[in-house]
Amino acid sequence: MSAPQIISIGRASDNSLVIDKPSVSKYHAVVTFITDHVVLLEDKNSTFGTTVDGRRIQKTVIGPESAVILGQVEPLDYRQVLGLRTGAAAPRPASIPRSAPAPGRDPLDFRRPFAELEKVQELYLATRESIQINNPRQQARLRAAFGLVPLVGLFLGPIGIAAGVLGSAVSQILAAEFLNPSQKLIALEKEYKRTYVCPNPACQKSLGNVPFLDLAARKQCPSCKARWSD
Ligand SMILES: [Zn+2]
Repeated sequence: MSAPQIISIGRASDNSLVIDKPSVSKYHAVVTFITDHVVLLEDKNSTFGTTVDGRRIQKTVIGPESAVILGQVEPLDYRQVLGLRTGAAAPRPASIPRSAPAPGRDPLDFRRPFAELEKVQELYLATRESIQINNPRQQARLRAAFGLVPLVGLFLGPIGIAAGVLGSAVSQILAAEFLNPSQKLIALEKEYKRTYVCPNPACQKSLGNVPFLDLAARKQCPSCKARWSD
């Protein structure tokens, strides 16, 4: 397995990300990449500390939605951090690309991509359980199933695009030996929240933890009225 990618952040000029501000320490923090969207952030005993969403942290898993402050006032530009991941896919769109409906078809017909969300939820639940009960065999199976899934945009056959996206994140999270189980669960939760959303690219409303069958029974998105099922 390749070593995890780590970048350093601080005032000194030999950091991967140099932030030359008085309250930022010379070697302030390090970031270890977990997936293309989620990282482990660790404060390196900086003088003025690091806060995430208003709480001072030592080490925590963060995602694009996290508000990170280095030192007293310096916000961390998360997009810039993600851009430093070598070999990362070109910045992916926030939404999962889906083919446009065929001409003449109902533009709010999202039944097919919606149906994929069932596999997304199953994968999330299976992965969560494998971490919670620490089942290495189940984890190996999940990694094998999704470790070779190509990036977004390629044909993924019966797996489905959305499940393929979560699957490739799952395989990276399970492979991240530098994470403890509770950090893996946070990373998984963040990737799941990005994927389990209304499939209408114009909507992307988070579907939270609502069971798939309950969503299917609603038949359409309460926000954008996309058709989910018959
Ligand atoms: Zn919607």
